[in-house]
Amino acid sequence: MKVILRRVTKTPLDFEVKSDEITFKGYLQYHAGKLILLKANLLGSLEKPCDICAEEFKMPLNEEIEFFISDGIYEDDDNIDLDVVESLTGEVEIEELLSSEMELIKSDYHSCDECKHSN
Ligand SMILES: [Zn+2]
Repeated sequence: MKVILRRVTKTPLDFEVKSDEITFKGYLQYHAGKLILLKANLLGSLEKPCDICAEEFKMPLNEEIEFFISDGIYEDDDNIDLDVVESLTGEVEIEELLSSEMELIKSDYHSCDECKHSN
């Protein structure tokens, strides 16, 4: 699902995309300046290798996600603590946002139930 950023207004724009066993559901809403707020829930499960035993395991997911998308380069130094993703094309692909969120989650440290319990 492709979203043209300048068409996003104060009225929340709902989206829902699925990838394998994950549902990414939420909305985009115009914030201020070049910024658009994305608020969503990541629900489902993700397969990844355990960081201890390297066995693939299914990790349940239920994450609240919130960040801003900047329509163009973001250069507001007053809000440096904001979590901002820049779009230089004026549009975003929700599926791409989902896969980068999944990469972030996968790169975190996770261990399977067996390893968790044997500690
Ligand atoms: Zn393990």
